[in-house]
Amino acid sequence: MLPFKLAYSDGYDLNLGEHVFPAIKYKLIRQKCLEEGLAAPEDFVEPPPAPDEDILRVHTREWVRKLKTGKLSARELLRLEVPYSPQLVRAFWLSAGGSTLASRLALRDACAFNLGGGFHHAYPDHGEGFCAIHDVAVALRRLQAEGPEGSGIRTALVVDLDVHHGNGTAAIFGGDPSVFTLSLHQENNYPYPKPPSDLDVGLADFTGDEEYLRRLREALENAFQKFAKENAMKLGLPEAGALRPATAGSGQASGLEVVEGEAQGSGPPKSGPPNQPEQKKSQSGRGARHSLEKPDLIFYLAGADPYKEDQLGGLALTLEGLKERDRIVIEAAKERGIPIALTFAGGYARKLEDTITIHVNTVRTARDAFLEAETSSV
Ligand SMILES: [Zn+2]
Repeated sequence: MLPFKLAYSDGYDLNLGEHVFPAIKYKLIRQKCLEEGLAAPEDFVEPPPAPDEDILRVHTREWVRKLKTGKLSARELLRLEVPYSPQLVRAFWLSAGGSTLASRLALRDACAFNLGGGFHHAYPDHGEGFCAIHDVAVALRRLQAEGPEGSGIRTALVVDLDVHHGNGTAAIFGGDPSVFTLSLHQENNYPYPKPPSDLDVGLADFTGDEEYLRRLREALENAFQKFAKENAMKLGLPEAGALRPATAGSGQASGLEVVEGEAQGSGPPKSGPPNQPEQKKSQSGRGARHSLEKPDLIFYLAGADPYKEDQLGGLALTLEGLKERDRIVIEAAKERGIPIALTFAGGYARKLEDTITIHVNTVRTARDAFLEAETSSV
């Protein structure tokens, strides 16, 4: 039995038929976790689909309507690069529910997985690169709306180690200091253009284990340092919106619309931080978890596609290198006492079993880290 939960639904399968994206992987990951005795049936929890009001905190009403009614234009379908079906739409809603559940469970148990999701190329008003709904953003916005006084969070760090840049994540959280975005990716690869994350590390083609892991360690250090600095600045200012003059206007304006504990079912996507009164209240609130020196939650997108045998990636990591990558991120969270939610994002290895192995290894690495934590705390 695992020291954390795995959110999973059979409905995660995107119904793609013959496609480079092996959507059957979710089912196979679950199966392998069970077969290898890594997880027991009770370690899995089934998420409900995310409610529309959660989706609408990130996505436009128009995009949601098009998805739900199947009214995507030919251009929109081309950009999405996956065949449309009602099952596909349901899978995206379930994945967003799964990432929300995983975030919540991570706050409770220190760690949790969504065995689906990581659709980081989805924008508020369109989908691309196999991604229609940004499950991670939906989850973070939901927990931010609940507020740090309730069951939610104020801030988060997104660590995106998929081989492709997290363009949707950068676009959604750009100008919002409450969510710090880090993307470590192959520079010379989709997407073009790459809107700026808070910290982008673009790697050269064929970067291998040693260089990758060195750049990752540096990037994580920088991310934590920059986060602490930006948050301190934010709270030192009477109005958080003044933090980033170039983009602050829209973020702050929409942030004021967020009301703790209430579903936000209408209006444009809300890209701002929780409102100012909420931030003030929480300073006397739940103690260390809401310290401003570190994020309340890390969301880690553990893409399998930096692997050297990946069909859509051009980096050269080995299976061992990827395990070490996971260990570095998980340990960084653990040693700072920050809850970590994990999701899988991309993975297109020539042999499907390699993709499955990489994802299952991520679960195993987390288990080893958190079992060790449990043992040493007894
Ligand atoms: Zn990818």
